[in-house]
Amino acid sequence: MRFQASGRVVLPGDKLCVVEEFMPVSGAKALKNGAVVATVAGIAEYDIKKHLVSVKPLESSIKIRPGDLVLCQVREVQDRLIICDILAAADYKVKTNWTAAVLHRGGTPIFTVGDIIVARVLDEYSGIYTLTVKGRGLGVFQAFCDICGAPLTPRDRTLLCLRCRRRYSNRPLVPYYGKVNTLLKMFGGLLSPEGGGLLWRSR
Ligand SMILES: [Zn+2]
Repeated sequence: MRFQASGRVVLPGDKLCVVEEFMPVSGAKALKNGAVVATVAGIAEYDIKKHLVSVKPLESSIKIRPGDLVLCQVREVQDRLIICDILAAADYKVKTNWTAAVLHRGGTPIFTVGDIIVARVLDEYSGIYTLTVKGRGLGVFQAFCDICGAPLTPRDRTLLCLRCRRRYSNRPLVPYYGKVNTLLKMFGGLLSPEGGGLLWRSR
């Protein structure tokens, strides 16, 4: 099982959910087949209590600065780079844009697609952020198995796949690995009243 956070940036036509899950309010519409899609580019927001979904149009982009703590998810692992999407930045009330970011690494890849990571911004060049996971409190919050995609379980300072028994020892972990409540406290902006809450969905 994999998880994905809402509050992601969507484009017109992107599927958000089905009407049985969430009814569209603004910036979204229901299709005849029951799928709910975005009608504007913006940030998808789900109201879990009321079962409503809306897309807030993107306004002026929020600049993340070097030193900022960010929550990101690995989108692509390339030969020399790991491409992440920034899901949120700590201490920012408003959710950030869904920004592509680059995590430097050397040697073999230490993260896999879908991994949710707490990282720090090193610098920014032409809108591309460079991140690091070296430092206290930085590392993967939820990691997945390279081979079978199952969520990894921490075991003796390593990560273990309970499904295929593969062990990973090279991924730095945050001390609160897998503890969503602690994560939400750190990235509280995700839970702003207008934010509609953070939703972890099964992929
Ligand atoms: Zn596995």
